[in-house]
Amino acid sequence: MDSLRITGARTNNLRDVSLDVPKKLLTVFTGVSGSGKSSLVLDTIAAEAQRLVNDSYSTFIRSRLPQMPAPDVQSMDGLTFTVLIDQRRFTGNARSTVATATDLASLVRLVFSRVGEPSAGYSPAYSFNDPSGMCPTCEGLGTV
Ligand SMILES: [Zn+2]
Repeated sequence: MDSLRITGARTNNLRDVSLDVPKKLLTVFTGVSGSGKSSLVLDTIAAEAQRLVNDSYSTFIRSRLPQMPAPDVQSMDGLTFTVLIDQRRFTGNARSTVATATDLASLVRLVFSRVGEPSAGYSPAYSFNDPSGMCPTCEGLGTV
């Protein structure tokens, strides 16, 4: 499926909203204050994604996670791994990327250092921010 299909969303002030959100494209939700942007994106889509992740844990771990109410939606199909980036001001620098801001970069480095036949023993060697892993020409800034 190349889209996320939401049918009958009624979380908070949403009134039976149905839509398809295409995947692998940038989708912007815009509207006046109170129009339901946050209810749809945060309280429906992100809440369901978090609920699916929590369901994958054992009962022991689930009982220690914060209990979140299921979003009020008739159905949601095609939901895959979701990263929620909060709305606080991004305090990055020239070395910041979406991956570093979301902590995904450290997980990717871990995978590179553990899976297959790694060419280096430690995950910092796969970081463009670590002297052992950065490009010697541009020092990891990606300008070359
Ligand atoms: Zn470079």
